[in-house]
Amino acid sequence: MSTSITRSTCPYCGVGCGVLIESQGDQITGVQGDPDHPANFGKLCSKGQTLHFTASPAVTAQTRLLHPMLRTSRGGPALRTDWDSAMSLAADRFHNVIREHGPDAVGFYISGQLLTEDYYVFNKLAKGVIGTNNVDTNSRLCMSSAVAGYKLTLGADAPPACYDDVNHAQCLFIVGSNAAFAHPVLFRRIEEARQRNPGMKVIVADPRRTDTAELADLFLPIQPGSDVMLFHGLLHIMLWEGWTDPAYIAAHTSGFDELKALVRDCTPDRVADVCGIRKEDLFTAAQWFAGLDDPRSGARKPTLSLYCQGLNQSSSGTAKNATLINLHLATGQIGRPGTGPFSLTGQPNAMGGREVGGLANLLSAHRDLANPAHRHEVAALWGVPSVPDQPGKTAVDMFQAAADGEIKALWIACTNPAQSMPDQATVRRALERAEFVVVQEAFATATTCDFADLLLPATTWGEKEGTVTNSERRISRARAAVPAPGEARHDWQIVVDFAQRIETQLRPGQSTLFPYDTPESIWNEHRESTRGRDLDITGLSYDMLDKQGPQQWPLRDGDAQGKERLYEDGIFPTADGKARFAALPWKPVAEPRESRFPFSLTTGRLRDQWHGMTRTGTLGRLFGHVSEPMVQMHPQDMERRGLKDGDLVHVTSKRGSIVLPLQGSASIGLSQAFIAMHWGPEYLSGRSSSGGVLAGVNALTTSAYCPTSKQPELKHAAVKVLKAELP
Ligand code: SF4
Repeated sequence: MSTSITRSTCPYCGVGCGVLIESQGDQITGVQGDPDHPANFGKLCSKGQTLHFTASPAVTAQTRLLHPMLRTSRGGPALRTDWDSAMSLAADRFHNVIREHGPDAVGFYISGQLLTEDYYVFNKLAKGVIGTNNVDTNSRLCMSSAVAGYKLTLGADAPPACYDDVNHAQCLFIVGSNAAFAHPVLFRRIEEARQRNPGMKVIVADPRRTDTAELADLFLPIQPGSDVMLFHGLLHIMLWEGWTDPAYIAAHTSGFDELKALVRDCTPDRVADVCGIRKEDLFTAAQWFAGLDDPRSGARKPTLSLYCQGLNQSSSGTAKNATLINLHLATGQIGRPGTGPFSLTGQPNAMGGREVGGLANLLSAHRDLANPAHRHEVAALWGVPSVPDQPGKTAVDMFQAAADGEIKALWIACTNPAQSMPDQATVRRALERAEFVVVQEAFATATTCDFADLLLPATTWGEKEGTVTNSERRISRARAAVPAPGEARHDWQIVVDFAQRIETQLRPGQSTLFPYDTPESIWNEHRESTRGRDLDITGLSYDMLDKQGPQQWPLRDGDAQGKERLYEDGIFPTADGKARFAALPWKPVAEPRESRFPFSLTTGRLRDQWHGMTRTGTLGRLFGHVSEPMVQMHPQDMERRGLKDGDLVHVTSKRGSIVLPLQGSASIGLSQAFIAMHWGPEYLSGRSSSGGVLAGVNALTTSAYCPTSKQPELKHAAVKVLKAELP
């Protein structure tokens, strides 16, 4: 049988590597890096290289959902049903809830793993047809603080830099990102740039000495949650030393005087104390960031900041993002090759979800729900009388509302909240209390197995068509190499079927708002919705993507290609065209450690695993790097407590407790502990503080969130670590 090659995109992280899928008949048989894709030029990491094994018949027979299934009672068996019955039931149950309790009694919780076209129809279904803004996504847990930070300072949710800037930067400031594990192909690019350019300085700020930190010329082992103080301290020094760029500040920014007043008391002594780092390292970092080796010459070397969940997953997430951007504005380190604040997205299509407004506070094409003119524009685009003005529930609030009985029907797509949401006790109570839970998924997960009343089998990587956007605003095609297995349907098809059925009940006699027969027809409506917006992609057709390959936005009608970098002209999408400094004070973490819970727990990724391991957890070879869950602590903390490597310990927060083996690691700071985020119910059992059975590391984490971005503080919880008594 001959081998076919299909050009597509890796479904894991936000680097967005291009892949060539090899297939024979209806089987995926191999995967190669796409040498022509500008995100990876043929390279793949350990996860991308093994994608085809996760799609082998032996694996999928164990993991995939292949038929619609219905449970008539919670905890009872899931019985096979047919698509027509399943979709009729879903429409009837949702309609009943809406009729009795109003549209805000339903919620849609979707995913940054969905394609842009899937996201678009979910958003239109909830906000345009049902009349609720209760549509949020697991991207809320991943990048909503980056969105809020960009909008607050630069005026739009638009990362200004691109991957090629790594090759132009003379200083890389990597903060709150273990790119070596989370974005490996980009990290490889950084290593290569460094080899070519020995003069490049790399600063890494992180509570843990990660593999990324091993590359650093200067490592700043900051205390968890102290990032804002670090950034204010760097600005304080830059001001004192005359390392800011007054001409850029005067021409292109506003609000600097207020910020100057705020950072006045962020003295090196205070910052060193709060952050737990040395004063001399602060000075070095400030000088390298400013890029002024010889301040008298005025020639400024370019500095690029790369950051991720360490900044985002925080109760100060917006402030962390915005105050880092302050540093770029104060030094004019933006809008030139090798400069800029550059947030890295965790998921493959977190950016695409932002573009279609697939979050509870956004509308299509980066419009704001709170803006009446934007609501009016979107209603006109969709052909509906209005878009509701009540803010929708964001992820944490949506599950809290379900736990409180306020949301009665939940639709969950392509994500596993029974593992990935913080404060699992509340999330599980929500899923138990909801009257009707639909889960649209490709894989069996804790959510599908324990909580779904109706299971709708969806296609996944290698089987579906659409687009994704990576961290550098680059849109790529995802393509199908093999047909859908079993009775699985494409996500957009499931949404459109449901939407057409519920339309007949909510908008009887009117023509459908969902006339789509292909993902391309959805794409064309989406790109038209961007006309005149900051992310205008009116010139980007599927045909162009097929002929010219992946493209960055904006790409307007008539443009030959997209834009590599933004703000090169120093004009920002704000009312006065100037970027805004954010004068936001440092605040401690939501749950500081204290005598009963004396350790700071941080969570993070492993090199070879992805999210809840539904895909990567099926391959033995991906357990070669780390084979089992463990909690890591500093050897001195272990010695002081009489603990040793391999001891089983209880790790306990105010919300729950789990048991796992202990490993000493000098990469962990004193009074800190680290557990990888991937380990779920299959690997870790535990109990909630009220005695219920819980599972996974999120039994411990807090749902405290940033008041602006609503992103929860998954990177910090106060815990105690005690030796487990063996029976
Ligand atoms: Fe996939 Fe990310 Fe690895 Fe690239 S770096 S192959 S996108 S997981």
